[in-house]
Amino acid sequence: MTVRLRAHHLLCMLTYVGRGYSPAFTANYDRIVERLNSGEPVLVIEGPDDICSPLLNEEARPHCLSARVRERDARAAIALTRWLDDPVEAGRRLRPHRKLLERMRTAFAGGKTRQACLGCEWRSLCSSVAANGYAGTLLDAGSGN
Ligand code: SF4
Repeated sequence: MTVRLRAHHLLCMLTYVGRGYSPAFTANYDRIVERLNSGEPVLVIEGPDDICSPLLNEEARPHCLSARVRERDARAAIALTRWLDDPVEAGRRLRPHRKLLERMRTAFAGGKTRQACLGCEWRSLCSSVAANGYAGTLLDAGSGN
């Protein structure tokens, strides 16, 4: 099995502390993080992903489908590709092991990959989580290189 994630959720997962749009959204997000923590790889996709899934049923016009959010994906993909020196694009599989997460979190905290966060309502929370050394985040992704 793989966890299907759109590009900007590769950033959002770094600061996830159990907060989100609705109880169903966070319950689903919690399960996804558990899967990642148990070693399931990520498949990068375009458009709504496994994290978006509950919102597609809850919202009349899910923001997950908007051009604004697709633009967020594009910015995240560009920034992560540059930072990791490895293409982050649809169809790519990656395993978010601990070293990769540390690298991504360092870049995020340093503002290197935050172009996708412009205009996001969760921006101050994510900034605060990163500034506090990612205390309380749920994604750990086990061990390994
Ligand atoms: S600010 Fe928004 S886009 Fe950026 S990591 Fe947080 S939730 Fe994701």
